[in-house]
Amino acid sequence: MLSDIEIAQSCQMRPIAEVAAAAGLDADDLELYGKYKAKLSTDVWTKLEGHENGKLVLVTAINPTPAGEGKTTTTVGLGQAMAKLGKNAVIALREPSLGPVFGIKGGAAGGGYAQVVPMEDINLHFTGDMHAITAANNLLCAMLDNHMQQGNALGIDPRRVIFTRVMDMNDRSLRNITIGLGGKMNGVPREDHFMITVASEIMAILCLASDLDDLKKRFGDILVAYSYAGKPIFARDLHAEGAMTALMKDAIKPNLVQTLEGTPCLMHGGPFANIAHGCNSVQATKLALKLADIAITEAGFGADLGAEKFLDIKCRKAGLSPDCIVLVATVRALKYNGGVSKAELNAPDLAALERGVCNLDAHLDNMQKFGVPVVVAINSFPTDTEEEVAFIRAHCAKRGVRVALSEVFTKGGEGGKALANEVLAVLDEGKADFHMLYEDSLPLEDKIRRIAKEIYGALGVTIAPAAHKELANITEMGYGHLPVCVAKTQYSLSDDPALLGRPTEFVVNVRTARLAAGAGFVVVETGAIMTMPGLPRVPAAENIDVDREGRITGLF
Ligand code: ADP
Ligand code: MG
Repeated sequence: MLSDIEIAQSCQMRPIAEVAAAAGLDADDLELYGKYKAKLSTDVWTKLEGHENGKLVLVTAINPTPAGEGKTTTTVGLGQAMAKLGKNAVIALREPSLGPVFGIKGGAAGGGYAQVVPMEDINLHFTGDMHAITAANNLLCAMLDNHMQQGNALGIDPRRVIFTRVMDMNDRSLRNITIGLGGKMNGVPREDHFMITVASEIMAILCLASDLDDLKKRFGDILVAYSYAGKPIFARDLHAEGAMTALMKDAIKPNLVQTLEGTPCLMHGGPFANIAHGCNSVQATKLALKLADIAITEAGFGADLGAEKFLDIKCRKAGLSPDCIVLVATVRALKYNGGVSKAELNAPDLAALERGVCNLDAHLDNMQKFGVPVVVAINSFPTDTEEEVAFIRAHCAKRGVRVALSEVFTKGGEGGKALANEVLAVLDEGKADFHMLYEDSLPLEDKIRRIAKEIYGALGVTIAPAAHKELANITEMGYGHLPVCVAKTQYSLSDDPALLGRPTEFVVNVRTARLAAGAGFVVVETGAIMTMPGLPRVPAAENIDVDREGRITGLF
């Protein structure tokens, strides 16, 4: 079989205006970025106002192996399959980050015959949203440091700056840095940190904002530091929100691209799910619901992270309510959860599968707590044996859960019809009775405890003194009603990446808490999670190249 990039490059793309037309949009609704990418103009909202919303399908997964388990691939393939069945479906996805593209995982435009294109553009600079977010974030940092340099009228305590610089790259050497060295003319020396752009509150705000006004208000609400007197300092105190919003005036518009089979896909915003809230923009999802009978969207990493945040943060903020959840499982990841090393995942091992299937059970139990019916998608790999696939099918049947083998990677939309039919059956039954895991009024520490116990399966939570103090402070400042965004490893249900399967005897360790007042949630960091990833020994970047015609190789 051809590689992902070879398949993508051999695709005969349709002009994006044609793709838009099929979704009921005309030339006036588009702002073109070349022939195959467009942003949707703000006027689209007025035009679609009266349209009824379609059904919402969320794609999530079990705990993944380091290579990813095929959620994006499945999401894209499911959209393609719906089109093959004559349904009007629109996909809503996140934009890739350069960190994984050059690191271990690779791109995020799907795989095999279930991809969105132009694959290289999407995985590299796309329409520049990621750069705009980085610039808006770092403008705020520059204004903050300049304020301290120019007399510090607000009395900002350089030891209590919360907001950090970002860059869209895996670069561990920037995690902890000292800035402002070199004497009086070169700034106020202080400890600073870099996060990856997709962990930035600016990214979260882009994804949750309803329009430019809302974006500006939220930017102003960002907590950047505390003063020497312990008073919170917000971005609006630095008068930064106007210029930050100006940098984002195009980034706020959702991007339109197509699948290999011409299905429309809105790709907008891209927070990671381990260190951020993990879903594409509310605007893209809402537009997909207006444009289509079926909107299909993805939440990052396992359902303990992405889906929990989709349901408890995004749906809460945006008033969304999913009608069906697709839980992607692979034989490989279940064997990995059964203790098989990454190098040996290709060998048949029914016993390991039997040990690892408890991970699937945990996620099924969890999703049922939200009242949304689930379809299990077995993302088929060439190394799976018939016995292994039959085992997962039988396991789901025993639990009374719908299941389908998804062959979209090798067959495109055609290979997703079985899955699409199961999803359609769920949508027809209309049995979703969505409810969130906790009420706004639950105190912050109880919210953390509820997520840890109900979703992760923990015995309880330990909260480090600094985090406890900050949570009390956040509550005191009047933000105790906000939902919680847990930063946690994606490899385990616990906060320890080594605990695979369905761990039980563990507690979750909350190290830090931080108010993201602009985004409207409280971030708590657990375990050893990093907000700035590092590159592996042999980064994917070593194999990426471009020839003199501009043809890129080595992306995957
Ligand atoms: P996720 O969205 O869960 O992180 P992706 O859909 O991005 O996962 O897929 C991760 C990687 O695995 C991609 O490189 C993709 O090409 C590959 N992949 C996905 N599904 C399959 C499959 N069925 N067979 C082989 N490779 C696959
Ligand atoms: Mg993905």
